[in-house]
Amino acid sequence: MFSLPSPCSALIAATYFLTVSATTVSSNTTAACTAISGASIETLSLSSDALNPEFVDAKNHYWSAANADLSPACAAFPTSAEEVSSIVSTLLQYPDVKFAVKSGGHNPNVGWSSVDGGVLIVMSNLGNTTFNPGDNTAHVGPGARWKDVIGALEPYGVAVVSGRLGDVGVGGLTLGGGLSFLSGQYGLVCDNVVNYEVVLANASIVNANASNNPDLFFALKGGGNQFGIVTSFTMKTHPIGTNGQVWGGIRSYAGIYSEQIINATQAFTENYFHDPKAAVIVTGEVAIDTLLEIFVVFFFYDGETVPAGVFDAFNAIPTISDGTKTQTYSDLLNGDDNTNLYGLRYLIRGATLPNLPAPTGQSLLLTHYNTWKAYVLLNSPLHPGFIFSLAFQPLPAIIPAHSAEAGGNALGMDARNGDFIWMEYDVSWLTALGDEDAHAMAINITATGKAQVAQTYGGKGLVNSNWQAGGASIGEGDGKGGENLYFLNDAMYDQETLQSYGEGNYETLKAVQRAVDPEGLFWGRTGGFKFT
Ligand SMILES: Cc1cc2nc3c(=O)[nH]c(=O)nc-3n(C[C@H](O)[C@H](O)[C@H](O)COP(=O)(O)OP(=O)(O)OC[C@H]3O[C@@H](n4cnc5c(N)ncnc54)[C@H](O)[C@@H]3O)c2cc1C
Repeated sequence: MFSLPSPCSALIAATYFLTVSATTVSSNTTAACTAISGASIETLSLSSDALNPEFVDAKNHYWSAANADLSPACAAFPTSAEEVSSIVSTLLQYPDVKFAVKSGGHNPNVGWSSVDGGVLIVMSNLGNTTFNPGDNTAHVGPGARWKDVIGALEPYGVAVVSGRLGDVGVGGLTLGGGLSFLSGQYGLVCDNVVNYEVVLANASIVNANASNNPDLFFALKGGGNQFGIVTSFTMKTHPIGTNGQVWGGIRSYAGIYSEQIINATQAFTENYFHDPKAAVIVTGEVAIDTLLEIFVVFFFYDGETVPAGVFDAFNAIPTISDGTKTQTYSDLLNGDDNTNLYGLRYLIRGATLPNLPAPTGQSLLLTHYNTWKAYVLLNSPLHPGFIFSLAFQPLPAIIPAHSAEAGGNALGMDARNGDFIWMEYDVSWLTALGDEDAHAMAINITATGKAQVAQTYGGKGLVNSNWQAGGASIGEGDGKGGENLYFLNDAMYDQETLQSYGEGNYETLKAVQRAVDPEGLFWGRTGGFKFT
């Protein structure tokens, strides 16, 4: 009996058959799929396995349902770097065949980890985590989800610097830099990678680390997916919690407390360096159908109890619900997954806001929030299930300082610029009828917010909290890791993310990309942020 892995409804089933039957597959793609299968690599094809649950899962199980509109001609499930290399060799023989690499499937940009009529390389069989107590590192498979990685390391009392929701994939998050609850202590996720095993565009398997292929190593630290297919990450591990326990979880608040919540967020960011074991993600949400406005705040502390003072400003605000408690890190990541809803179409767009010292910084964030809310309420056409949210993600100067200590990364951040907040703007909706409006609104939302910050605060010599001599002031951060940086993991397909890393870093990354992929296997045949 055919069954879909997600809640099965007539609509989902009908959509599945429509998308499957609308896909055309070229003879070369069929030949490539046959060759991959002929090399004894598990391969399921649209023509003969469309109802196989594993194929359905590969095609359909994406965070944004818009990716499931695409149907791969075949899905290949490699179990080793050698098998990935064999797939790349086959792709090289068929230069017009498109492909995509899929890890956790959380990136909402359509056609990046999904492909229509091409070869989908599903990394799920490369998902093991092993701990190396000798040097306190872990080998982490790119097809794993963070909950599996953290669960596997928990018996040893250690963790890697991970994603903040357990269901997200290791591959995409790590290649985009990766912001973690542990970043205040140890830097971005990529700052904690000591070796990448990669299959390059010529099908060779290489290691990239501080000694071997150091340019590629640098580029992979936040430069995205255009350099090769990563088959293993070696990551530093760190002790986690006290007695295996951390504190945190999710609280929700009514929208009437927006000012207190935003003030607390600014102050938390400014004071982050006092206790880098703490972290928050502060999200505001507006549902267009109901006009319901709420805040959902994710809390984390790397210890079983929180010292006084750390979250006091948040604690003073009345909650609608409070799920914070002492628990294991893996339970906390699994609990955060309660906000990880499947079945909707999503877009994520990113921006960076300055965290100016209080009170100016508080007024900047509050004005920004109110501008966003007013725009959303005034301009939203009524589509079923439209929900808008934005997330304030503190990026204190201690994070780029850790990045520098670890040898630097591709993002071009500079700790002297002080504290920032990485903003994430989400739009979710139900059906393809809303696609056009959702895309246009996502673009306008960030344009409006950016203009507001530039006009009110730019060019006045204002500097962020924890700014140090030599850092950029607001409005002159271009190319200096300032407020024009786009965090790749939160960026929408049209945002000039790699360019925002600064001209020097952009040119360095581009040179590496052209050196490892001169024929354009990645830039010509799969999605991702490109070098122009
Ligand atoms: C609910 C949710 C929570 C999130 N939380 C965080 C967070 O805490 N921190 C953070 O930094 N970001 C976070 N993100 C953003 C997330 O990091 C990006 O969306 C990321 O691209 C998802 O990675 P993935 O492996 O799940 O996605 P996928 O869609 O599978 O992959 C994303 C991209 O990476 C490429 N890719 C994947 N694996 C490989 C590989 N092995 N080799 C080469 N290319 C590869 C894919 O081809 C694709 O282009 C979150 C996103 C969502 C939706």
